Amino acid sequence: MTVSNKLKLNLANLAHRQFRDDEFWRVIPGWSNVSRAEFSDHMWQMKHSIKKVDQVKTILGDLCTDSFYQDMQKGQAKTPMNIRITPYIFALMDWSDPINCPMRKQFLPIGSQFLEDHPYYEADSLHEDVDSPVPTITHRYHDKVLFLPTTICPVYCSYCTRSRLIGGSTEAVEKDTYGVNQARMDVAFDYIRSHEEIEDVVISGGDAFMLTAKQFTFIGENLLNIPHIRRLRFATKGVAIYPQKVLTDHEWFNALNGVHKKARDMGKSMVIHTHFSSPKEITMFSKLAMDRLFAEGIIVRNQAVLQEGINDNINDMLLLIKQISYMNIQPYYVYIHDMVPGCEHFRTTIAESVALEKAVRGMTAGFNTPTFVCDAPGGGGKRHVASYEYYDQENGISVWTAPNVKPGEVFFYFDPIRKLSKEAQARWADKASREAMIAAAKKKAGF
Ligand SMILES: *Cc1c(COP(=O)(O)O)cnc(C)c1O
Ligand code: SF4
Repeated sequence: MTVSNKLKLNLANLAHRQFRDDEFWRVIPGWSNVSRAEFSDHMWQMKHSIKKVDQVKTILGDLCTDSFYQDMQKGQAKTPMNIRITPYIFALMDWSDPINCPMRKQFLPIGSQFLEDHPYYEADSLHEDVDSPVPTITHRYHDKVLFLPTTICPVYCSYCTRSRLIGGSTEAVEKDTYGVNQARMDVAFDYIRSHEEIEDVVISGGDAFMLTAKQFTFIGENLLNIPHIRRLRFATKGVAIYPQKVLTDHEWFNALNGVHKKARDMGKSMVIHTHFSSPKEITMFSKLAMDRLFAEGIIVRNQAVLQEGINDNINDMLLLIKQISYMNIQPYYVYIHDMVPGCEHFRTTIAESVALEKAVRGMTAGFNTPTFVCDAPGGGGKRHVASYEYYDQENGISVWTAPNVKPGEVFFYFDPIRKLSKEAQARWADKASREAMIAAAKKKAGF
């Protein structure tokens, strides 16, 4: 019952209405003289982004211990994601305790954090490439498609579900990262044009904040001009990790707003889906960026990923939900982590996700209460976390179906092995016994 006591505390102190507005970046030795005007400039942010381990050391000076430096170097051999961090996010990391800092954990890989991959990991766990009729398009659901015009982002997340594509090759993973390409986009538009059932396009990547003003307008207008397209969503982590773009890149903001206004004029919609995972990512910069978007009537929704040591406790999750709601962002989804390589240390269990959903529901407006989902490995699509057909919690095996997406197919999600009992861990260690457990769970589910 300590959970509910802590909840009351959080609501009573109204922490969600406070947005830090101090010059927090000045604690970083390399940026102690950076003014607010410079730090607010989107160009300054891009130019000073962190892309190499040695840069971290130079900028941190004495704040970077030798052991942490070595840990970062070891991380480079293991990580599926390259480093790319805006100064804004880098300065929000807790440099007095970087190992445990939820911001560091999300964006700056270190060797000591990595755990052995789960045996059922797949680089394309959601089968986005399998359900792809033409390059850059995934058409899994009847009336909506996922369109990936670019595979670069202003910040690379260590937990990225598309680590097979995004952000360039690393020592551990070879990738076919691509930028915007006219011929490829034309093929995507042709596909969408020739499929009348499609009404909804998710423009993701990669990150829409990496599209130039011209590219943004081009993509937006081309899609809106397709008669059966009713809804566009631009997916971007930008509002969370690079709010300076919204605040000071006026040409780009006008392009975004132009697509929004054109959509409205046509009786259609353009919204932004962003990605705040932790309340520690929120400052007055986020609030001001959201104020600017909201003033134009642009709807912003949030998709968070549930991650261990980052937002897997009720206080942080509730604070996140209340605070983004306060900024006029609708909490839309909280995903259980996908089963992709290099991410075992981030994963939680289905049971933990169900418990969090239960603890959150009823705390605020229903429309500001996110749906906790599991994107079923193998391409079943997003399912409510408590809607499994069967859950063998002892062995961490959940069984799912997706009647509208892949009728007749059965999907599995597996909890992290380290969170299971010693006995269950031993059963997982043996290939024949784990296959038998999975077959038994499938049978129990009635398949
Ligand atoms: C998530 C996703 C969508 C959008 O799904 P919503 O539940 O409407 O947010 C569309 N296509 C693919 C392939 C997706 O993964
Ligand atoms: S912003 Fe999205 S696509 Fe880019 S690295 Fe992060 S999770 Fe991956």
